[in-house]
Amino acid sequence: MKLVAATNNRDKLRELRSILSQLGIDVLSLDEAGFTGEIIETGTTFEENAIIKCETVMRETGLCAIGDDSGLVVDALGGEPGIYSARYAEPGKRKQKVLEKLRSVPEEKRTARFVAAIACVFPDGETITAIGKCEGRILTECRGDKGFGYDPIFYVPEYDMTFAEMPSSLKNRISHRAKGIELMVEKLKGRL
Ligand code: IMP
Repeated sequence: MKLVAATNNRDKLRELRSILSQLGIDVLSLDEAGFTGEIIETGTTFEENAIIKCETVMRETGLCAIGDDSGLVVDALGGEPGIYSARYAEPGKRKQKVLEKLRSVPEEKRTARFVAAIACVFPDGETITAIGKCEGRILTECRGDKGFGYDPIFYVPEYDMTFAEMPSSLKNRISHRAKGIELMVEKLKGRL
């Protein structure tokens, strides 16, 4: 079975390849599948955006597509940055914007989670989705230099570390994306 990964992100492609190859699934890149179109995220939820990415790619390539949409949800900010995580502020200023907005919020109210929606859209229109979450708290300053994006401000109490302090092997085991992909794999197994 062949799936096209509806992403331009090399890390996501590599992650999907290594997980899905264990199920005998070949994962093609957008280039390999001959996709030349543009993906415009117009959804209002992570799930809708993940499906939109897959539908766009499936329609052009005729192949089953797998994709994700993810972000940081902060309770005290009414769920911001949420689906706007990637464009919440200028590059390099997004973490600071969250910290600034939470300046007067006490520790117990700084709860947050990373969310990842994974979608798989088949040429017959069948759509499978899976949601993965990782619960944590927003610190008052950055800690750690690994990872990317909001990792240095996202603290996971269970491990007493931010995502940016964890070895990538640990983050890749407990992250929202890892959990979403794991769930998707279970659902795909039922369909194979
Ligand atoms: P997308 O899922 O590629 O559209 O990206 C969502 C955005 O959410 C990223 O650009 C990051 O800002 C943020 N994000 C998603 N997952 C993570 C993560 O594991 N660590 C840090 N930031 C993340």
